[in-house]
This record gives sequence, C-alpha cells and structure tokens, in this order.
Amino acid sequence: MTRDYGFGTRSIHAGETPDPSTGAHGVPLYQNATYGFDSFEDIEAWNNGAHHFCYARTSNPTVRSLEMKLANLEGAEAAIATASGMAAISATLLHLLAGGGHLVASADLYEETRDFVLQDLPRFGATIDLVDCTSLAAVEAAITPHTRAIYTEAFSNPMLQVVDLEALGEVARRHRIPLVVDNTFLSPALLRPLERGATIVIHSATKYLSGHGNVVGGVICGDRDTIGAIAGLLSRLGGPMSPFNAWLLLAGIKTLPLRMDRHSANALALANLIEGHPAVESVAYPGLPAHPRHAIARRLVGDRFGGMLLISLGVSPSAVGCFLNALSLPTLAVSLGDTATLIWPVAGSSLIRVSVGIEDCADLITDFTTALAAIPLPIAR
Ligand SMILES: *Cc1c(COP(=O)(O)O)cnc(C)c1O
Repeated sequence: MTRDYGFGTRSIHAGETPDPSTGAHGVPLYQNATYGFDSFEDIEAWNNGAHHFCYARTSNPTVRSLEMKLANLEGAEAAIATASGMAAISATLLHLLAGGGHLVASADLYEETRDFVLQDLPRFGATIDLVDCTSLAAVEAAITPHTRAIYTEAFSNPMLQVVDLEALGEVARRHRIPLVVDNTFLSPALLRPLERGATIVIHSATKYLSGHGNVVGGVICGDRDTIGAIAGLLSRLGGPMSPFNAWLLLAGIKTLPLRMDRHSANALALANLIEGHPAVESVAYPGLPAHPRHAIARRLVGDRFGGMLLISLGVSPSAVGCFLNALSLPTLAVSLGDTATLIWPVAGSSLIRVSVGIEDCADLITDFTTALAAIPLPIAR
C-alpha cells in the first residue's frame, strides 16, 4: 500500500486484501504447515523462482500479511516476523557478527538483550563494548576497524534514556556500520528509526504492537538483502512467528495509533502528578521538561512520548511495598504495552517501572494519588 496514506489508514489497510479464494474480509488465519502444488511443472516453476508458499517455517500467508504491514509502517523495504523479540534480536546480531566481529552496544539495554550480548555472543567469537550511547564521543571511541554494528534502544528499558538517533546514525554512516535500533518502547506510531538514520529496526511485538498482552512475538525491519539473509538464518534457527500470533497482531496493530495517543496522554498526566510529590525522589519520563534529554526526545517523537515511566522512590524497599500494595488498578506484572496498566519494581533498587495503560485517565490519577499518600515520608531532621 502506498505510503501517501496516513499512518492510521496504513495501520488498518497495509498488507491486507480480501482473501483471493473466498473474498473473506480481514486476513484469514492460515493455520497450516505445508502447501500443495498443482503439478510437477508448478514445483519446477517454484524451483526456478516463481512465487509459491511451500512450508510454514519459511513462509505463511497470515505471517506474510503482518510482515508487509510492519514493513509499510516502519518505512522499510522488508520485514520478517519472529517467535519473540529475543528471536529477532539474537538472529539479527548472529547475522551481523557471523564469524566473530566487534559490537558497540548501549550499556543501557533490556536485561535479556544485555545478557545475550554479554554471555552468548562472545561464545560465537564476537567482542563487545558497552558504551553510553547518549555520548557520541564514547561511541566514536569504541568503534574499531572490526566493528560490525552499533546496537541501541531508542528510549531505553527501563531507564528511559533517550538516544539521539540522528546524531548516532550520522556516526554509523560515516563509519559504514549498520545502526540497529530496538524501537519496542515507542512503536512506529511514535518513531520510525529508519527515517532517522537507523539501518535495522527491531521490536518485541509482545508489547505495543500486540497491545493486548496475548502474544509473544518479534519483528525485524530493514533493507531487502539484509532481511532476506536474516530470514534464511531465522528459518535454520527455527524461530519464525506462528500464524496464530501473526493473526492476533494484525488485529492489534489496527488500533496502534489510537492506543499510543492514549498511552502517551495518560503517562504524561501521571508523570506530572508524580513529579514533585514529597514521597518521590524523581520520575523519568522523556515528556517532562525536567528530563535531561527532553529536547532530543521532542525532536524525535513530537508531543507524544509513549506510555513508559520510571519512578524512583529513593527510600527503603518497604516504601516501594507500601506504594505497590496501595494501588488497586494496575497489575503487578512484568511486560509492557498492554491496554491495562502494568507495574513492576526493578530488582535491587527503589525504582518502579510503570507501563501506563489506556484506562480512563481520571481513574489512574485517583488510584496513584491514593497510593502516593500511602508512602511513609522520610522523617524530617
Ligand atoms: C520485552 C523486550 C524485549 C524482548 O522481547 P520478547 O518478546 O519478550 O522476547 C526486547 N527489547 C525490549 C526493549 C523489550 O521491552
């Protein structure tokens, strides 16, 4: 579908046409493993490059529709859907670092990604430097002639650091190194990293793309050659997305821009409520003018900053408990990007990550106001 249409229109229509065999409106769930050919000649034509679905580890019409929709929304030539966000991340990095190479990765990454980079990649011969990607000088200093990729999150999980993608993309381009960006926290409704200098974009589709907490999945978007090569590796690793998950994602993505508007508005309202409360040390939300990277965030995402915020109570773990136990609407759960507000204490700290849902803002404000009042204030001396 042409990208002349607006993002909302494309969220609904891109990658979708009525089913050619039945006219069914809405992409059908093709829950099958293999595909029949009409004749020996058909098989020969397919062997010579004619399009035909063959085996569902490699391709499936439902998954294909999702991939076309996501490529359209991210502004990519191609996309491939994977069994999880980690399948997308591991396949991409294994491809880029094949045979051993050097990776410059952000020091502020989703924990499982960081573990993969630090524990697993070196076992395949790669060398790693973790750097503060908000410092271009630090990135420049880490690049060597063997560097094969720069890897970062746009807004980081959970610290909500904001990376200046345009400046980092410029560094990557100058050194002819691909810039890989995990865009999970924002989704293409708020940020399209390929338009800002990234080479490859990755998502945990489990989060905002699904939006309903009923799928584990991932996606990789980029140029046709790179995605084709990663698709081959992913098939051999055995990590494609299941048709059912793709089908749920196709439904979820239709409301992505509406949901991201509401997530952003609710999160900004909660951040304003929490900021400056006497029981709170700080709240990290890139939409607050007090966020150290607010101006860069605004340049990247305009006036919608997403639904994630990080609260620092700066007091004892028992205060964290008082706060969490006094909340009634949010679910105490990991993951994020759900319609419901999810909240989780960051282990070993007084930090609390909030994935603000799309409930009525007034109800969230009431609930958080009550819970903030339940935190014992530090005794004044
Ligand atoms: C959840 C998450 C992942 C991993 O995705 P899964 O779908 O759980 O495998 C990667 N990056 C970020 C930023 C995430 O939040």
